[in-house]
Formats: sequence, C-alpha cells, structure tokens
Amino acid sequence: MSEPRAIGLDLGGTDLKAALVDAGGGMNGFRRCPARARESEAAPLEAIAETVIALAREAGGGVVALGLGTPGRVDPATGGVVGNTPHLPHWESPPLRDWLAARVAWPVVVDNDANLAALAEHRLGAASGARVSMTVTVGTGVGCGVVSEGRLLRGAGGGAGELGHLPLDGRVPCRCGVPGCVEPECSGAGLAARAREAGLAAEDAAAAFALAAQGDATAAALVERMTDRLGALIAAGVQLVNPDVVVLGGGVSAAGEALLLPVRAAVMRYALPSHRRDLRVELAVFGERAGVVGAGLAAWDVARGAG
Ligand SMILES: [Zn+2]
Repeated sequence: MSEPRAIGLDLGGTDLKAALVDAGGGMNGFRRCPARARESEAAPLEAIAETVIALAREAGGGVVALGLGTPGRVDPATGGVVGNTPHLPHWESPPLRDWLAARVAWPVVVDNDANLAALAEHRLGAASGARVSMTVTVGTGVGCGVVSEGRLLRGAGGGAGELGHLPLDGRVPCRCGVPGCVEPECSGAGLAARAREAGLAAEDAAAAFALAAQGDATAAALVERMTDRLGALIAAGVQLVNPDVVVLGGGVSAAGEALLLPVRAAVMRYALPSHRRDLRVELAVFGERAGVVGAGLAAWDVARGAG
C-alpha cells in the first residue's frame, strides 16, 4: 500500500507547477510545465489533466485529494474564479472546482494562489510560530495572503489580502483600473518593463537586480523605487492586520537579500512605530514552490474534513 498523498497544483499565467504533498507538507515529484493560458479555454485544463494523471500514477493509487491555486479572486463557496484575471485571458468566471471535480474521484479544493502560499509559509515555513502572518508574493504581479491563528483570512467573497493594487500615486497606468495603482512599479514584471523603458537589456526582474548589483545606476534607481513602493504597500497591510511576520515570496524573492533588505527597511520606514516594534520581515522558505505546498496542505484539510 503506497503512502497517502495529496496532489498540489499552482496554476500561473506562465507555468503550471505541481507535486505530491504528504500529510506533513513534504513534497515529491515536483514538476513545472507550460500553463498554456494564452492558447485557448481548454488548453490550461489539458495541461492540468496531463500533470494530474502523471502524478496520480507516481502516487501509486494513494491520492487523498487535489488542491489547486489560481490567480484571481476565488469564491470560497463555489471554488470558482469570480470574473476574469489577466493571467488567464480565455477564462471568464471559470467554475474551476466543478470542472476538476467532474474529472477526478477525489475531493477538490481551489483557492487563490497567494492564499495557498501564505498557508504553507504560516504552517511550515518562514512564518511558522507566528500568530498572524502576511505572505506577499512578488512575481508578474503582487499577491498577498493573510493567515490568522492558523486560518486564512478570506473576506466576504474570497478577496481579502488583495494588496497589490493600492492607489499610492503610481505613475504608470495599471490594467486593474484603480487610479494611481502602484502595482506596475512594484511587481517583478513592472520592474522589468520600467527597466526596458529606460533602455536597459532586462528581460525580467532578475536581470534588473543583476544590473543593479553590477553598479548600473539606472537599474539601481529602479530597484530602489520598486522596493520603496513595495515597502509602502506592505506597511499599509501591516497597519491593517498587525502581523508578527511578513514573508516575501514569489519568483522575485529569488533575488534574496537584494530584495529583502531594502523592502524590510522601507516597511520599517512606513509602518507605525507601534506596529513595527516586534515585526519580522523574512524571505519565504518555500520560495516559488510555496503555492504547490499550500495547495497540498489545503487538499489534506479537505480530505480530513477540516477544509
Ligand atoms: Zn492595479
């Protein structure tokens, strides 16, 4: 008899990441494939189906449940994405949980990708032991999940923690429509775009950080602006929920201390003294794999009847 495992999936606009997750959060068989989000409505589901079939085979029949993280606001009652998200352009209010539940025999749970990353970091990662944690995922966009005393804060309709799109005098229009939204200046994709506009050869945020580290003054100024605005965003969240730990995750967190140190300094600059006193700002332990671990943990919760 094979060891029971959950399947954890993290669907993004570019990649689909997945693994088998055991009851303690251990990962096996991590893999990444194209999400095919820009091809058609059916293409991402085909990518999910192929991945699930391969992982189920690897699990040898011991699958207990399936968890999926997705961009967008996920209604906790239906497990469907509400409206659309620019990361999944062919989907309009996709009933994701129903789609998946119709195809597999196991219980299915769907949640926002940053929420699931936050769950993993809170239970097992950089925020383990925290009473309240905020996990901020910096990648194509800026996501955020809040866990309070072990439970995700969801809001009335699954949209709690949508920290990226705050009107903080942003100078570049955002596709979200919020006037002055600052996300284009503090996301990874935004940093890369600002760098290219300035004439730098930066295909992604990592390239912009590398140029800054090599002493390029233009790149350094853009990184300084990006980390300052990210710190201001996070400080607003700190004042709202008063966490003991803020975790920085997502693909851009691979920059390590080049991201952490200036963001930590900016959070301390913008947060109220009373709120920053005992606050820790740390890098994610699971990095960009946090969403997969969190999806697996949420699936285990459902399998145990606790979800
Ligand atoms: Zn926005």
